[in-house]
Amino acid sequence: MPTLLATRYARVVVDVPIPQPLDYTLAFADAAPGQVCVVPVGRRSQAGLIVEVRDSSAVDAGRLKAVASVVDEVSPLDQPWLDFTLFAADYYQQRWGEVALPALPPMLRSKPGPRFAQALARLRRARLEAPPAATPVRRRLNAEQQQAVDVLVAAQGFGVHLLFGITGSGKTEVYLRAIEDRLRADDRSQILLLVPEINLTPQLEALLRGRFQEAGVVTLHSGLPDGERSAAWLAAHEQRARIVVGTRLAVFASLPALALIVVDEEHDPSYKAGEGVRYSARDLAIKRAQLLGIPVVLGSATPSLETWAAAQSRRYQTLRLTQRAVDEDAEPPAIELVDLRPPQAQAGSAIAPAVAEALAATLEAGRQSLVFLNRRGYAPVVACDACGWLSRCPQCSTFAVFHKTDRTLRCHHCGYAERAPRSCPTCGNQALHGVGHGTQRVEELLRELLPTARVMRIDRDSTRKRHAAEQAFDAVHAGDVDVLVGTQMIAKGHDFQGVALVVVLNPDGQLASHDFRAPERLFSTLVQVAGRAGRGGHASRVLLQTRFPSHPLFAALARHDYAAFADGQLAERRSANMPPYTYQALLTAEGRTMEAALGFLREARDEAPAEPEVRVFDPVPMALQRLAGVERAQLLVEADRRGPLQAFLRAWLEGLRARRSRIRWQVEVDPQEI
Ligand SMILES: [Zn+2]
Ligand SMILES: [Zn+2]
Repeated sequence: MPTLLATRYARVVVDVPIPQPLDYTLAFADAAPGQVCVVPVGRRSQAGLIVEVRDSSAVDAGRLKAVASVVDEVSPLDQPWLDFTLFAADYYQQRWGEVALPALPPMLRSKPGPRFAQALARLRRARLEAPPAATPVRRRLNAEQQQAVDVLVAAQGFGVHLLFGITGSGKTEVYLRAIEDRLRADDRSQILLLVPEINLTPQLEALLRGRFQEAGVVTLHSGLPDGERSAAWLAAHEQRARIVVGTRLAVFASLPALALIVVDEEHDPSYKAGEGVRYSARDLAIKRAQLLGIPVVLGSATPSLETWAAAQSRRYQTLRLTQRAVDEDAEPPAIELVDLRPPQAQAGSAIAPAVAEALAATLEAGRQSLVFLNRRGYAPVVACDACGWLSRCPQCSTFAVFHKTDRTLRCHHCGYAERAPRSCPTCGNQALHGVGHGTQRVEELLRELLPTARVMRIDRDSTRKRHAAEQAFDAVHAGDVDVLVGTQMIAKGHDFQGVALVVVLNPDGQLASHDFRAPERLFSTLVQVAGRAGRGGHASRVLLQTRFPSHPLFAALARHDYAAFADGQLAERRSANMPPYTYQALLTAEGRTMEAALGFLREARDEAPAEPEVRVFDPVPMALQRLAGVERAQLLVEADRRGPLQAFLRAWLEGLRARRSRIRWQVEVDPQEI
């Protein structure tokens, strides 16, 4: 008998939309599942991930290509990580490689070249840029916090814990104690802390580094340069870092000794990916915890209705924090509604007299004000009264926003930009005017209104440069700003100690939205903004300008009664058979004409497999019908149980993929915007 080494085979996933892992022959004796490799795919070679090593292949060995090289300088991803990414791919109806490869750091995703080993050594040595550690302050826990910590410390195995605490109730301190306990219980254990916003990571990282100096804290988010992201990923993978703080993509970090996951502000829409694989990092965090048999903590003052429903039905355990942590006797700030209807306010004025007075009084008292407006730019649209011309984006079914700082018209959807015209492009009228208010215009108004105040604006436009946001927030914390005006960016999480007045300028737009999730989002945004007031323990006010002062949403908000609001919304959702009482998926199509997009979806609907439990709706144009020059339409499918919906989608999409249509289409499971 010839003494031949038995041929081994590797099953490899690559970032290509092909259904199954590919088989290759494997000449590397110590290659293992979870290892990154380079394989030929068609005529090219690219990075792949070995997901299985076996002694046989269903494909004839003579027809198989060989794995070209194996990256053995980096230890393999472990089996739980492979299982987790496979789950995510299946659930979101994607190919395994399309989820697993993009989850790897840039350095591993690009084909490792000849200098890979040196590059790797550099990354391992890299001192990661990090904010200085904050002075560790162990805040005394109140009784509710202590109770929550006790439950989390005692938690064994998988369980979802909803930390439902009003803003300022000290959720972070509860996380820190729970983390401390897990780190101490096992000197290998690792922690994953997810946050909704990149700008919140420096503050948290500093806090964590102050408290857990020895643990090694790294940050993972999409704003990091490739090298830093790779270095941070590697530190977590090699267990040099025990704490990872990150935005949604961090849910895929390699954490071989993961012992606890915390999802802060779990209701935040940014946990849902808006492009590529449309995963929910919150939902995947829960699944990852379940697969590993570890606890997961979801923190929020306004839990998502999905989470709220699970907590009400006791699938999740609720831990309540009802008091402000700084001063237990302090009432949350009073929320006052300012009626914007004439005669109380002059038509067209953005800031009501009562609000102007409050701003002046706050400045007088030497305290900070925060003015929130969810609209950047100067004016949402420019108009010509003579002929009716409006500044539209030429590529989208929406308006181009006037930016005064650089005198441009910009589309906030597709990025289109042009110089703002001096006169009307249609009739030559010189008297063009901006309609409505964005943050730039409000900033201007505030400077006129309060000439002695130091006014600062924070939005995506003012913080484009790296570290610009950090520096801006530092200035606010240092008390170098009297009035801060900004978008969502200023609402989330920041612990502003000196803010005594919060103003919400125009929340009414969202009341009229067609999206059934709009009220839920508005409520949570407003609670979050209002929560920036009075964090230092002193008296504070929240003023909300509205034309609908008797709207029930505002009434519940003014009572600080999220539970009543959420219960009411859930009752509505139940009677209308909407999520979380039903499960949805959205098929979207893009075409050069709306007819082409709708036509594709109609054919898709007609081809849908028969599944009695799944309801398939008629295709309709999307709310933002035209984006960047393409027409977009959508088709909703729905079922009362996840299982039948998943089975239906699998069969349906297989058929659609086989059609090789020239229409671009994609599916989104659990869509957040419809
Ligand atoms: Zn005109
Ligand atoms: Zn556009």
